[in-house]
Amino acid sequence: MKPAPLSYARASDVGHALALWREAGPDARILAGGQSLLAGLNLRLAEVDGLIDISRIASLRTIDLVGDTLRIGALTRHADLERSDLVALHAPALAQAAPLIAHPAIRTRGTIGGSLAYADPAAELPACMLALDAVIVAQGDGGERRIAARDFFTGVFETGLEPFELLIAVEIPVLRPGRAQAVRELARRSGDYAMAGLVAAADVTPAGLRDVRLAYFGVGGSPVLARAAMAALDAGRPVAEAEAALDDDLDPSDDLQASAAMKRHLAKVLLRRVLADLTGTEQGRPA
Ligand SMILES: Cc1cc2nc3c(=O)[nH]c(=O)nc-3n(C[C@H](O)[C@H](O)[C@H](O)COP(=O)(O)OP(=O)(O)OC[C@H]3O[C@@H](n4cnc5c(N)ncnc54)[C@H](O)[C@@H]3O)c2cc1C
Repeated sequence: MKPAPLSYARASDVGHALALWREAGPDARILAGGQSLLAGLNLRLAEVDGLIDISRIASLRTIDLVGDTLRIGALTRHADLERSDLVALHAPALAQAAPLIAHPAIRTRGTIGGSLAYADPAAELPACMLALDAVIVAQGDGGERRIAARDFFTGVFETGLEPFELLIAVEIPVLRPGRAQAVRELARRSGDYAMAGLVAAADVTPAGLRDVRLAYFGVGGSPVLARAAMAALDAGRPVAEAEAALDDDLDPSDDLQASAAMKRHLAKVLLRRVLADLTGTEQGRPA
C-alpha cells in the first residue's frame, strides 16, 4: 500500500525544520530515518498532513565528547552507534544495544532521535537512556530544553516533547572508572522486537555492586527502572532477593511477543545474565 496524499518539505537546518513544521501545522510529522513512520503511513496505520524531512541536516549526525559527556546528534544512525569508537569507550551499552535493533538495513537508516521520539516500549535505546542517566535535548522556537530521560518517556509511544519541538541530541555521562554496563535481551528470532530486555550499569567494587541501574524494556508501557531490585543489589542483598523484588517493580501485559507471565520469568533470567556480565562471574557478584 501507499500512504494517503501528503505534503513533503526538506529542511536544510534545525531553524528551517521548525519553520517548515509551523507552516505545515501540528498534524505534520518529522521524517528522520523513516523506518517506523513510513511503515506506519504505508500500512495506513497512521495519517499525517505532511512530512518535514530532516534526514539531510548533517549537523545532527554527530558523536562528540564534550567534557565528561558524550553528545550524540539526533540523526546518528543505529549503525553509527555500532561502529563508533567513542561510543564503545564511553557508552558501551549503546554499542551493545545497537546490533540488537532490527536488521542491518533498518539500522543503516534508523536514527537515535527517531527511536527516542517514537518511544516504542520494546525498543532498546530508550531503556539505554534511562540506565545511563541521559539527558534528551529538544529545540523549539523558544530555544533548547533539556529533559532527564526519567521524565522523557511518559507512556506507550508518548514522550515529554512539546508540539513543534525537535529532538536534536542526547547527552550521556561518560563511563567512569570502575563502572560497567551490560545489555541483554531475549527475542524469538534475531532482529525481532524483544520479549524482554535489560540495560544495566553499576560500579563494580570489591564489596559488591553499587549505584546499580536496571532499565527494562518490553515489559511495560515505557522503559521501566526496577527500583526495588536496584535497592536490593545496592544494599548487597543476594541476587535471589533482587529477583524477587522484580515482582514489585514490573507489571507487564501480554503482547504479540510473549505472555505477561513469560515476561516476568524472562526478566529474572535477564537479571542473572547481566549481573554475570557486569561482574565477570557466574554468581553475579564481584570475585
Ligand atoms: C521490521 C522492523 C523491525 C524493527 N525492530 C526494531 C527493534 O528491534 N528495536 C527498535 O528499537 N526498533 C526497531 N524498529 C524501529 C527502528 O529502529 C526505527 O529506526 C526507529 O524506531 C525510528 O527511527 P527513525 O529514524 O526511522 O524514525 P522515523 O520513522 O523517521 O520517525 C519515527 C517517529 O519519530 C518522530 N521523529 C523522528 N525524529 C524526530 C526528531 N528528531 N524529533 C522529533 N520527532 C522525531 C517522527 O515524526 C515519527 O513520529 C524496527 C522497525 C522495523 C520496520
